Amino acid sequence: MKITFHGAAREVTGSCHRVQTGDGTVLLDCGMIQGGRERHERNREPFPFAVDRVDAVVLSHAHIDHSGRLPVLVKAGYRGPIFATEPTVKLCEILLPDSGRIQEEDARWKIKRLKKKGEAHEWVRPLYTEDDAMAALERFVPVPFDEPHDLGPIGSVSFVKAGHILGAAIVDLRLGDDAQRLTFSGDLGVEGARLMGAPQAVECPEFLLMESTYGDRSREETGDRTEILHRIIEATIDRGGKVVIPSFAVGRTQAILARINDLVESGKLSGVPVYVDSPMAAAATRVFELHPEAYSEEARRLLRLGDQPLEFPGLRITSSVEESIAINKSRTPCVIISASGMCTAGRVKHHLKHNISDPNSTVLFVGYQARGTLGRVIQSGTDPVRIFGEWYPVRARIETIEGFSAHADREELLAWFESLGGPPRRTWIVHGEEDAAESLAEALASQFGAKVDVPHKDQTFSLG
Ligand code: ZN
Repeated sequence: MKITFHGAAREVTGSCHRVQTGDGTVLLDCGMIQGGRERHERNREPFPFAVDRVDAVVLSHAHIDHSGRLPVLVKAGYRGPIFATEPTVKLCEILLPDSGRIQEEDARWKIKRLKKKGEAHEWVRPLYTEDDAMAALERFVPVPFDEPHDLGPIGSVSFVKAGHILGAAIVDLRLGDDAQRLTFSGDLGVEGARLMGAPQAVECPEFLLMESTYGDRSREETGDRTEILHRIIEATIDRGGKVVIPSFAVGRTQAILARINDLVESGKLSGVPVYVDSPMAAAATRVFELHPEAYSEEARRLLRLGDQPLEFPGLRITSSVEESIAINKSRTPCVIISASGMCTAGRVKHHLKHNISDPNSTVLFVGYQARGTLGRVIQSGTDPVRIFGEWYPVRARIETIEGFSAHADREELLAWFESLGGPPRRTWIVHGEEDAAESLAEALASQFGAKVDVPHKDQTFSLG
């Protein structure tokens, strides 16, 4: 048996690992490489393995850096099943076609630019289309949490709750006749997150693949985030302004809603209209509501007491363009949560346009803003800013609440490893920038005597 690391090796995105046994081949994740044009182009490189020799794909969770290259895999000839938890399947039904539309849009934009310059453009192709994404979705097979699913002669797979986002799983493989265990952490969640919570414990496997996004960092303690959110919303509403929260449609939006729910349910906030204005976020929120079994213990406890965390008086989830325009025309103070999370596209740009020059309003960032995005430009205090080709003076207050990340930090990663009761025979650190991965590897080796490697891209190890 052997394992080869094809992606998220000494970097964060493009998760993809291939496990070969004498009886077949399993691919763990098939994610998009993200972060700038150059990295994105790497998604076009052919897979460095025979796609038609892969017998099964197992997907840890819906995030695009884990799922986003599945349409490419299917386009390249993969005809087997893609196993994932049910919420992951439902979230992929939203995320992958959207990703296809983005690829098509990018290609159209590129063609337009080349035409303008009088250069050849016939070679431009989208990485994949919405139709390619639909074809990939046909291969998905939902598997319940905590129930071993038969993979034929290869062995079996179980999904264990990882926290992180809805449906996110730790992948537990049992391989071959002697059922050797290989566990892939996927992305691990955060203790005390309002909806998803911490990863569940698993028994120590023989072989472990572990993420390291925050392998060298601790989450900054910024105080009670719900209370900070409360203060910002209350002050803005008192001034008669609007709070615009740019947020990712899947995960972050629902995490913020759950916090606002707590403020409303505890009587700290009342009579404030809260809009979720993003068709994707609306669809994702419905998936969350359909799968409360995937929530954390605490969220399920509150649910049993009758508190739907994503439903409260004043909440309006809007999908239509007309509704979106109506929010902009209304002068009533309100909270608007809208995508995209970094203000690069989507309806949030309209809300920014209408509110950024209003001294009574607030733009509130709750997620990472990458360099070069409109979100980063606004966050860093640039004034004026350009939106849809026009310049707007920045008069609204610009606020940021840190620490809403859905990733375990260094202490939590170490605690999860310790909870295995190990160490495993071998551990590989993936899904982290080089420094983060090396730092976590060193800690695991020195604190727990673990035999740890940080694999390079396409490096193979034998599971002997
Ligand atoms: Zn993730």
